[in-house]
Amino acid sequence: MSGSDHPAGPQERHAGRVVLVTGGSRGIGQACAAWFLHHGDRVVVTSRSGSAGALGASDRPDGAFGEDRLMALACDVTRPDQVDAAYATVEAAWGPVEVIVANAGITRDALVLRMTDDAWDEVVATNLTGAFRVVKRGLAKMLRLHRGRIILVSSVVATMGSAGQVNYAAAKAGLGGMARSLAREVASRSITVNVVAPGLVETDMLGALGDDRKGQLEALVPLGRTAEPGEIAEAVGFLASDAAGYITGAVLPVDGGLAMGG
Ligand code: NDP
Repeated sequence: MSGSDHPAGPQERHAGRVVLVTGGSRGIGQACAAWFLHHGDRVVVTSRSGSAGALGASDRPDGAFGEDRLMALACDVTRPDQVDAAYATVEAAWGPVEVIVANAGITRDALVLRMTDDAWDEVVATNLTGAFRVVKRGLAKMLRLHRGRIILVSSVVATMGSAGQVNYAAAKAGLGGMARSLAREVASRSITVNVVAPGLVETDMLGALGDDRKGQLEALVPLGRTAEPGEIAEAVGFLASDAAGYITGAVLPVDGGLAMGG
């Protein structure tokens, strides 16, 4: 992806914002980070590994981003101390976070009678409680700024359900309720809270399903194909832009028509 892939738009007016993307070391989070970087924002990517992913590689055709633009921090969203420390580091270096993309997520699939309490707890702790924790820590400063954008990355599974994923579907559906409630709480400060619900996206997470299952699911997609991570990032970037200033409490499906918003 190069800067020329993203023509200047209305979102350029807020260039230089501080953007936090959880789970930004690869996949959808990494694509979101790239989107914001190419639109002039400063981006911190967090993950358990603390990797900047390909964005940190010095042999990128468009050059590596300097540490004034891109920061990679180890931060497990299930660990309150690590979330607090990551925010403290960003705030000390760049000031308050203005855009939060709560994207970190995992799966631990099993049919319900085989699903352990541990598998339930881990997925809810990461995908739902982790998002709550990351948003809550950043919100106080956004409230003082009287501006901000919060985008929660859910899934098509939140509305469609998925056999073998009761933990994941429950956590992802929970994000919708969280976003709508939070949107009401913070709207008076011009902070918007929205959800992006991807369908099948070409990342490690989808790869873990195996080719047979992936093929079965892909056959159900009206557009007949999976998405590239950058296609999800475009929706996230839009919701973070000035152009989306009157959108809050919304769930935006980016699923090739799989759920038709249902
Ligand atoms: P990947 O598995 O490719 O990437 C997940 C990212 O989350 C990695 O950066 C990972 O880094 C990070 N992560 C995982 N657990 C934690 C944690 N406890 N704390 C901090 N970071 C963590 O997944 P995708 O890019 O595919 O998924 C991104 C989001 O999109 C997820 O919420 C997923 O549920 C959702 N989604 C994905 C779809 C798809 O088809 N791919 C479809 C619908 C939704 P590390 O391992 O180093 O911690």
